[in-house]
Amino acid sequence: MSKKKKQQRPPHRTVFAPETGEAPIYWECPTCGYLSGDPAFLDAEHECPFCKGTGTERRTFPTERIRRLDARIRSYHRDGDHEIVVILVMAFLETILEDIIDRIMAAHGADVQLRRMVMDTQRSIGVRIGKVFPALVGEEFEDAAAELGYRDFPYRWRQLREARNAFIHDSPFNGARDTLQPSMGDDAMDLLDQAYKLFVLLNNRFVADGFHGN
Ligand SMILES: [Zn+2]
Repeated sequence: MSKKKKQQRPPHRTVFAPETGEAPIYWECPTCGYLSGDPAFLDAEHECPFCKGTGTERRTFPTERIRRLDARIRSYHRDGDHEIVVILVMAFLETILEDIIDRIMAAHGADVQLRRMVMDTQRSIGVRIGKVFPALVGEEFEDAAAELGYRDFPYRWRQLREARNAFIHDSPFNGARDTLQPSMGDDAMDLLDQAYKLFVLLNNRFVADGFHGN
């Protein structure tokens, strides 16, 4: 008898929200946490493709806080302010990662105090990706991203983070540092769009799937 939870998960396919040039809109099943970009999901009578639940009001993802940050990033990008774009996209990605880790912990049954303690004590982005995430889901962030079709994402994120850090921590002692290249603003925007999709896939795999009540 197999003990692997993965094999017990029913098949489903995540529907992405259309790209509109602003933050996408996803609806969340309040019962299992499943996220869908399918507008039919807005209708509470349309059953959740994952848990088959109906009849409850569905919250939207991302949160208003993320949507506001997204709108500011796109506005700076339109103005060609790529240094601000890179810095804000990094802040955005860190917020998105914090959200997904929080949701996975909640799906494991962790209460608010425990989740807050983990987030307060594990503030480093490297530790959250390299230690907290794998401890929760049983695989590396890089492997999970690759399995979900986003193999380059962790690498590109790391590159941009290094560029951002070099830019922000520039000092007279380090010698002259080039400013961030304009192409990095475009790279950052790509990561922003990919991050929503990867977040939704990670959510549907590690929050909605299989881990509830175990
Ligand atoms: Zn559901």
